[in-house]
Amino acid sequence: MATTEIREADWIKQSETREVMTALETACPGGNRFVGGCVRNTLLGQPVADIDIATRLLPEDTLAAMKAAGIRAIPTGIEHGTITAVCRGIPYEITTLRRDVETDGRRAVVAFTEEWAEDAMRRDFRINALYVDPDGEIYEPVPGGLEDIEARRVAFIGEAEERLREDHLRNLRFFRFTAWYADEVDQTGLRACETLRDGLKQIAVERIWKELLKLLDAPSPYAAVKAMTEAGVTSVLLPEALSQDRLSGLEAIENRLGKREDGFLRFLMLCPADKEIAGGIASRLRFSGAERDRLIRFAKAANRFAPDMTEADLKAAIYRVGSEAAQDALLWRMAGEPEADWSHAITLARSWTPPVFPVKGKDLLEGGMAPGPDVGRRLKAMEEAWIANGFELPEG
Ligand code: ATP
Ligand code: MG
Repeated sequence: MATTEIREADWIKQSETREVMTALETACPGGNRFVGGCVRNTLLGQPVADIDIATRLLPEDTLAAMKAAGIRAIPTGIEHGTITAVCRGIPYEITTLRRDVETDGRRAVVAFTEEWAEDAMRRDFRINALYVDPDGEIYEPVPGGLEDIEARRVAFIGEAEERLREDHLRNLRFFRFTAWYADEVDQTGLRACETLRDGLKQIAVERIWKELLKLLDAPSPYAAVKAMTEAGVTSVLLPEALSQDRLSGLEAIENRLGKREDGFLRFLMLCPADKEIAGGIASRLRFSGAERDRLIRFAKAANRFAPDMTEADLKAAIYRVGSEAAQDALLWRMAGEPEADWSHAITLARSWTPPVFPVKGKDLLEGGMAPGPDVGRRLKAMEEAWIANGFELPEG
């Protein structure tokens, strides 16, 4: 079967893709197919982020094929079969067909194979195991992928519990792909994820956090997260998690205001506004500096706002916590206290840029003040007076 969606897709027609495929086909005719996200997303009518190719060539032969065609190739994961070809700036991840030899729930020992079916069997979901040859012909080595695309369903390949025991990260990936591509949560997969949820504790936190953010970045992750919480998976990942209520509150806000929030903001809806707990979450999930900073600033800001604040008080609070923390905190409050009117505060936090305090220490020194700790104290007092005066320096 071939579909016009595949044949007409920009990524498959572009000259870089043709060059890379021709180089592979010259070395191994009939032994190269597109796989994974590019095939799945094209069939679902969604944008394609990156292009993965599966090949019968061994990794060193893939490198040689690229070299012969003058295409740059980087051995990005050569020990498990992956090299990245870069053609005029566009990367192609090319991986030798593999089968699992040994799994322990976290990582697999793989062997190379020439069988498409074996390569397909070790993948996670049926929609992720569709292959397309250079002519746009679609292959479904494990049946069900095309049917799932049609039904917008995310189902494990084979027996769900068995597949989770091989690699528990698939538990979170189930919710991630469900959030992005499914109309409903597949009940068989869901039950398996519930039963084996504790297996996620074996997975490196960096991998968990990456998948979790991808899940929360879905256009609307709410139904998937709700299922994940009800299955007890969320509390394995985040024992500190609040109830689902704030997340539901945010869903309603997003629908009402017609603005999609980012995955991190959605994550904040599960976090208590407590800077000790926030610090603990940031450390355990090994947040980047920027992520830690955003979480802690939010936690400190959340209780500085009240629904009945005057414009002047709101501006003072936004100035003190910063625009981003103010928006994060206000959305968290609004999501949890929908009966109060937060709309003015949110609009202000989004539209108003806090001014920069115009006086510097050197201004005071130039004005004749002696250097010393008094300079800082005086500056602080002046800043407070400036805030209280509506961000104008008082006369005199
Ligand atoms: P996207 O790149 O849009 O996130 P993708 O499907 O390409 O989606 P990747 O995480 O890049 O997702 O993985 C590429 C492919 O590798 C998947 O489509 C799947 O077939 C396979 N895969 C990735 N991780 C696993 C896993 N933990 N278990 C089984 N197969 C996996
Ligand atoms: Mg990918």
